[in-house]
Amino acid sequence: MSTASSSNSSQHHIMGVYNRAPLAFERGRGARLFSTTGEEYLDCVAGIATCGLGHAHPVLVDALKTQGEKLWHVSNIYTIPEQEVLADKLCAATFADVVFFTNSGTEAIECALKAARRYHAVAGNPERIDIIGFDGSFHGRSYAAVNASGNAGYLDGFGPRLPGFVQLPFGDFDALKAAIGPTTAGVIIEPVQGEGGARALTEAQLVELRQITRDAGVLLIFDEVQSGMGRTGKLFAHEWADGAEPDIMCVAKALGGGFPVGACLATHEGAKGMTPGTHGSTYGGNPLAMAVGTAAFDAINTPELLDNVKTVAGYFTQQLNGLKDRFPDVVLDIRGKGLLIGIKLASNNREFMGLARDQQLLVAGGGDNCVRLLPPLNLTLAEAQEAVAKLEKTCEVVRAQAAA
Ligand SMILES: *Cc1c(COP(=O)(O)O)cnc(C)c1O
Repeated sequence: MSTASSSNSSQHHIMGVYNRAPLAFERGRGARLFSTTGEEYLDCVAGIATCGLGHAHPVLVDALKTQGEKLWHVSNIYTIPEQEVLADKLCAATFADVVFFTNSGTEAIECALKAARRYHAVAGNPERIDIIGFDGSFHGRSYAAVNASGNAGYLDGFGPRLPGFVQLPFGDFDALKAAIGPTTAGVIIEPVQGEGGARALTEAQLVELRQITRDAGVLLIFDEVQSGMGRTGKLFAHEWADGAEPDIMCVAKALGGGFPVGACLATHEGAKGMTPGTHGSTYGGNPLAMAVGTAAFDAINTPELLDNVKTVAGYFTQQLNGLKDRFPDVVLDIRGKGLLIGIKLASNNREFMGLARDQQLLVAGGGDNCVRLLPPLNLTLAEAQEAVAKLEKTCEVVRAQAAA
């Protein structure tokens, strides 16, 4: 077809589902992105918390090149030793006993929800199908994922809501206790909401959630697609609380450092319904993804990198709260955990993102009129300082515009 008449000529043949910024990049290095028009940006988006080690990290580039010359893809009808390497590492570092590899976060969610229903089905309780989710959550874009998050904007026009999904207010555990019943299969929640605007559960809430679900005999699923892989200064955000291990956990984004890899982790018990033939993926866990994922995991799961996250996050928290004090007319709240930071704004967050771009700073949007800072986990303090200075300038511009 050549009848499209968009004013943006280069987008003729791209399905129009994104609200894109008028900006394209040709290369990146660490926390720097270089645009096709030759400008340099400080990247506090990192592919939405995905390039955890920044752009073109030499260890990842090397892993990609080395494996790229050996073997990319064979199919899960064969044994894939590269999967066992990464699965061993993930299980050694977490509550999990087994891993299913995917290409994205949404697919990890699909696996988790299917595992939760199968768990009850094989125990003789096939009526237990309900998945309880929370307002403001984001679990991806498949039918199951949009029904689990319940965001009307993602459900509208796609036919009837799927049966077996329940939504509650974020963090309302009285409502949760009341909602769990004989048809409940599991509860899904992000320990720190990402797209919803960087809202974090407290450590006490994480523990309470574990207790409620355990007592009720339903599965607890943590969606750590955004909050995991070092983002909060622990390998996974739920580790901030003692005794809050889930039955199932979804991981993706930074797991591949920018290469598409996701994973659904579970205990033996949580995965007991997932027997041969119940699930699968053509690409999931291919040798190329596993090689890059293993290199990213080894680089992220170090005390040095996790300490860096805590240090840089501490600096941001202090400085951003200072900005909030100096610009109470612009900044309403600083929230989040680690380097998953939300800045709630008084004026439109999309406009703020554009004004930050004018300062050569990239920040992400978020729910509740937030912008999010999701920089690479190896961001230096000097780079964090630069980001704060650019945010301060942006706040000045916002203030001046409001006064004009
Ligand atoms: C990004 C994200 C997803 C979906 O991951 P995709 O790779 O886009 O499918 C799911 N859950 C959370 C918390 C996310 O941030």
